[in-house]
Amino acid sequence: MAKLIYIEKQVRNHPRAQNILKKLKCSNVVEINHFGEIFNRNSQNFRIQKENVNYIIAAKTNNMVIPVPSPTSAVKGYYFSHMYNCFYDCTYCFLQGLFNSAYHVYFVNYEDFGKEILNITKKTETNLWFFSGYDCDSLASEKVTEFTSYFVPLFSNLKNCLLEIRTKSGQAKQLLKYDAHPNIICAFSLNPQSVIESYEKGTSSLLNRLNSMILLAKKGWNIGLRFDPIMLNCASKKQYIDLFEQALGSIPKKNIHSVSIGGFRLSENHHKKMKHIDPNNKLLFNEDYDYCDKLWALKPEFRETELSLHEHLKKLIPNSTIFMSS
Ligand code: SF4
Repeated sequence: MAKLIYIEKQVRNHPRAQNILKKLKCSNVVEINHFGEIFNRNSQNFRIQKENVNYIIAAKTNNMVIPVPSPTSAVKGYYFSHMYNCFYDCTYCFLQGLFNSAYHVYFVNYEDFGKEILNITKKTETNLWFFSGYDCDSLASEKVTEFTSYFVPLFSNLKNCLLEIRTKSGQAKQLLKYDAHPNIICAFSLNPQSVIESYEKGTSSLLNRLNSMILLAKKGWNIGLRFDPIMLNCASKKQYIDLFEQALGSIPKKNIHSVSIGGFRLSENHHKKMKHIDPNNKLLFNEDYDYCDKLWALKPEFRETELSLHEHLKKLIPNSTIFMSS
C-alpha cells in the first residue's frame, strides 16, 4: 500500500520538514492542523499499523522537556522526544501500550527544544542528565531526523549537562563525525544475540553494536552500557555473564561512563493494553511475571538470578558507575 505522510500546516515550509519529505520519498502528502488528529485517534491498531507505517511531520508545542527520576541523587533527570515511535519492533516495547498509533511522528522544531533545555539549565547549578530515546530509539532514524546535527553541538556548549543518546542501532557510527565531548554519551542497550533474535526485531546485531562502541571509544567517546531489559526467559545467567565480560572488555574502562541493569517490566496499564492489541504475543502471558505496585514484573521468587547478575557486575566494574534501572 502507498505510504502517506501527514504534515502539520504550520511546518509545511520548515527546512527540516522539507528535508524529511525529500528523504521519505513519498508523494502522498496530506496537510493536517495538529498531529493529534491522526496520532491520537481511538480505534487504531498499533500492531496493524506497525506492518504499514505512515509518517507525521509536526511541531511539538507542549511538554517539551519532562522531569524523570534520575539514576543518582546527585543529578536531576529530564527527557525529551524529537520523535514518537520506532523503526524497530521489539516484542517487549512499551510504546505499543503507550501510543494509539504506530505511525512515526517527526517533530521538527528542534530550536524550541533547545530553548527549553537552555531555560532549565539556567535555573539550576545542579548537574542535569537529559535522556533522549524514551519514545523512540535515538539513532535508528538518524538518517531521516538528523537529530545529532542539532543536539550534539547544543549539548557540547552547555555547562553541568549530560545528554544520553540511547540506541540499539549501529547508526552510532554517524556520531563519528563529531568530536567526543564529556557532555554526551552514547548508551547502547545490550542483550545476548539469542534475545536480539527473539525479541528485538530489526535492531542491529550484538556484534554491530559492540563494533560501534569500539569505534566511538577509540575516538574518545564516553559510552553507556545498558543491560536492560534482562530477559532470563530467553538467555541463561551464563549468557549474561559472558555478555557483561565481552562488552566491558571491548572498550577501555576510562571510556565507560556508566552501566545500568534492569529486569523486563512494564507498567500495569501498558501491559494490559499490549495484551489486548496483541493476544498472540506470548511474552506478555509469561506466568513468571505478575502485577505488583502497578508494574508487571518478574515475581519476587524468580528475581534471585537478576540480583546475582547485579552482584556479578559489581565485581567487574566500580559500584559507583552501576545503577539499577527503575
Ligand atoms: S528500540 Fe526501543 S523504542 Fe524501538 S522498538 Fe525497541 S524498545 Fe521500542
